Amino acid sequence: MIERIDALRAEGERALSGATTAADLEAARVRFLGRKSELTQILRGLKDLDPDARARAGASANETRVLLETLLAEAEARVRAGSAPEIARDVTLPGRRPPVGHRHLIQSVILEIQQIFHGLGFSVAEGPDVEDDRHSFGALNMPVGHPARAETDTFYLRPDVLLRPHTSSVQIRVMEATQPPVRIICPGRAYRNEAVDATHFYEFHQIEGLYVDEDVSMADLKGTLERFFKELFGPKTEIRFAPSFYPFVEPGAVVDVRCFFCSGKGCSVCGPLSGGWLEVLGAGMVHPNVFRAVGYDPRRWTGFAFGGGIERIAMLRYGVPDIRLFYESDVRFLRQF
Ligand SMILES: [Zn+2]
Repeated sequence: MIERIDALRAEGERALSGATTAADLEAARVRFLGRKSELTQILRGLKDLDPDARARAGASANETRVLLETLLAEAEARVRAGSAPEIARDVTLPGRRPPVGHRHLIQSVILEIQQIFHGLGFSVAEGPDVEDDRHSFGALNMPVGHPARAETDTFYLRPDVLLRPHTSSVQIRVMEATQPPVRIICPGRAYRNEAVDATHFYEFHQIEGLYVDEDVSMADLKGTLERFFKELFGPKTEIRFAPSFYPFVEPGAVVDVRCFFCSGKGCSVCGPLSGGWLEVLGAGMVHPNVFRAVGYDPRRWTGFAFGGGIERIAMLRYGVPDIRLFYESDVRFLRQF
């Protein structure tokens, strides 16, 4: 009797755990737990056994019954979950558009600047982010020990290998590889060990320009930049030059744009002390020592160069208050542009 109960328990477990449809389940229920099932018959027949056998068979049969009932409940839940009715589909609804990204604001500003300079006959040049000392400093009239080297806290990988602190290294590489005339802009990343705050980050983008030919003058520089800023900020944009020092140009100038938010009256963007001017670029006439370093004859060739930060231009133009926003990849910020 006990052996028969054990066999029924094993068969019942197999049938219930293997059931995948409601019909399977119902068949298993009838066979193992139904009123006419063998187990029920055994339970009913217990009263005819002698007391000792009744106790042992009764305990075993009841245990089996409880176990199979538990398995049945579990199997019912499993089959119900697996056969949830399909949600009605309306095939005439318009499809869901997959999310499509767009250019990062920094890339859009770079492309816009490139397009303006394409119109002025400049082509785009690129160079490596990991540079050597000569292209970053030496050939730019900053020999070892020059105090201007200390102004940019450079990331050195080895004593003569570094992350470029400006994109001026690209100008050197282009001049080394080609003869004048040269008319290029160099957009790209630059790296400096800055104390990070709302206007400083350890990585940023610059765009530089270089024009080398015979008889290039400061007037060409001014005309080119005026044209550029009128295209970028609007036809009423005014610019001004103020003398400044950069080792690789002589003379050098800092280029300001009249604040395009307040037209120079003074506002939170240009600040109370600026007189309504925003500093946007450094520029000047290429220093003869730079030409000598790349093998150009400074008596024959003259040229101008300029450079500035893309983030600064983007922040001014779009009213972005913190440079770190460009690097946080927060889609709530990126989607606005
Ligand atoms: Zn202003």
